[in-house]
Amino acid sequence: MNKFFFFGISLILFSACYKGRSVDMIIHNAKIHTMDENNHEYEAIAITDGKIVEVGPDRQIQNKYAADEMIDAGGRDMYPGFTDAHGHLLGLAQQKLNADLVGSKSMNEIIVRLEKYASRTGKKFIVGSGWDQSLWSETALPDNQELNKVFPTIPVALFRVDGHAVLVNDCLLKQLKITPETKVDGGIIHLKDGKCSGLLVDNAMNVVFENLPKYPDAEMKQAILEIQEELFQYGITGVHEAGINFKDIAFFKKMVASKELKMNLYAMLYPTPENIQFAKKNGIFEYRNMTIRSFKVMGDGALGSRGACLKKPYSDEPGHFGVLTTPFEEMQKIADICEVTGYQMNVHAIGDSTNKLVIDLMERIYEVRKDHRWRIEHAQVLDPTDILRLGNCGAFPSVQPTHATTDQRWAKDRLGENRMRGAYAYQSLLNQTGIMCIGTDFPVESINPFLTIHAAVNRKNKENFPGAGFQKKEAISFMDCIKGMTLWSAFAAFQEDDLGTLEKGKDATFAIFENKVKADEVFQENFAFMTFIKGKKVYSAE
Ligand SMILES: [Zn+2]
Repeated sequence: MNKFFFFGISLILFSACYKGRSVDMIIHNAKIHTMDENNHEYEAIAITDGKIVEVGPDRQIQNKYAADEMIDAGGRDMYPGFTDAHGHLLGLAQQKLNADLVGSKSMNEIIVRLEKYASRTGKKFIVGSGWDQSLWSETALPDNQELNKVFPTIPVALFRVDGHAVLVNDCLLKQLKITPETKVDGGIIHLKDGKCSGLLVDNAMNVVFENLPKYPDAEMKQAILEIQEELFQYGITGVHEAGINFKDIAFFKKMVASKELKMNLYAMLYPTPENIQFAKKNGIFEYRNMTIRSFKVMGDGALGSRGACLKKPYSDEPGHFGVLTTPFEEMQKIADICEVTGYQMNVHAIGDSTNKLVIDLMERIYEVRKDHRWRIEHAQVLDPTDILRLGNCGAFPSVQPTHATTDQRWAKDRLGENRMRGAYAYQSLLNQTGIMCIGTDFPVESINPFLTIHAAVNRKNKENFPGAGFQKKEAISFMDCIKGMTLWSAFAAFQEDDLGTLEKGKDATFAIFENKVKADEVFQENFAFMTFIKGKKVYSAE
C-alpha cells in the first residue's frame, strides 16, 4: 500500500517537474488563425519575453511547456493583431476636441451644434469637423452666409469629413487676408457672386491650417489614449499614421517613452524641409514601438470636394479637372530624397491622372530598386490601362474599402458610368500586385475593422446597402481582406519579420475575438475579447 502511495506521489512530482520548458504564458483552447503561408490553424500558443515560442495543437503545447499564466480562450477566434494601414491619430484626436459635425443633416443643424459647443467651451476661435453636404437635402457645396449671421466677430473654420475642404466665415477670411484675387497653386477658393463664398479646397486650406489654434499637448494626449483604447477594443494593435509634421515626432516620441502609447506606430512624414532634414540625419528611425522611414506625399485632393485630379473633366462640373496638390517635378524631387535616404514613398492618389503620374514615378524607382515597397495611398480611380501597369513597377495599393461604400452615393455623378470601371477596383488592383495593405483613413471613416471587412467582401455599408453589393465584382475575398490588415500591412511597413503572422519567433501581438470573425451578408458587430502586444495584455473585455 505504501509502495503504491509513494509511487503515486513521485509520479505527480515527476510530472510537475518534468512538465516541460517554462514559458511566460500559454493560451489554449483557441482557434488560432496563424495567417502563415499555408494558413495553418492551431489551438495553443506558448509565449515568452513577448515572442511566440511555438504554436501548435493543444496537447502538444501543454505537454511541452509549463506557464504560470494559462488562458483558456474558450474556443474563440484568434488572429495576428490588426493594423490600420492608413489612419490619422492626430486628425481623430483633433476631431474629438473640435465641434463634432459628423452626420449633421443641414447647415441649420451645424449652427445649432456650433452654438452649443461655443457656450460649453467658451472658445474664441471655433473649429468644427465632419460635415458632409452629400447628406443634406441641398447637396451643393455650402457657403458661409448663415455662419456670418451667427458668428460675425469670432473666427470659425469647419472641415469637411474628408479633410479636403474647409468652410470659413468672413471674419476668418478677413484675418487671413483671403480675397477673390488670392491665387493658390493646387487649391480652389470658391466664389459666389464675385465674392469669396468661404469654401476653400485643398492647398487653399493651408493658410487656415497654419493659423488654427493649437490644442494643448495634454488634451491631445488624452484624446489619443482614448482612441488607442477604442482600437484595442477592435483588436487593432498598429496604425500607419498617414502624415505627420516635425513637431509631432517629438510628441509621439514622448508618448512612446512614457509607455503610454503601446500600439505599433508606423508614422509617415510630410515632406516638409524640417522632416526632410530629419530623414537625412536619422535615416531609418526606430524607437521602441515607433518607426519612421517613409514620406507621405499629397498627390491630389478628394473626389467628394472635386479636388481629385482627373484625366478628363468631372462629369458633374464641365471643364473642371481637379488639382494636383504636389506638382510632378516636386514629386520627383521627393522620390530622389527617398532613393538617397532609403525612405518609402507613399503617395495619396485619388484621381486617374494622379495615379498615372505616380505609376510613372514607381516605374522609375523600380529600375534601380526592385523591393522598394512604395505605396499608392487610396488608388481610388485608375484608368484600366494604368491598372495593367501596376504589376510591373513594384508598387502596391493601400486601400480603404469603406471609402467605396461611403462614396457609392455620388461617385458616379463625379466620374460618369465609364470611369466607374476603374474606381474602387480592389480586386482588379490585387490581380496585378498580389498584395495590398488595408485601412480606414479614420477619421474620414470609422475605425471599426469589421466595417472594413463588410465593405471589402460584401461591398456594403453598415446599413447593408446596396443589397447586391456596390460593384460587387471588385469585392476581394475574406482571406485577402484579413491579409491586408495583417501580413500585407506588416510587409508594407517592412515589419514582416516581427508582425503579420503568428509564427515562432515573431511578436506575440494578437487579438482574440468575442464572436467568430467572418463576413456575413448582414453586418454583425464584433469586438476583441482580449488584445495582446508583445505578450502583454493591453485590453480585456472581462
Ligand atoms: Zn488619409
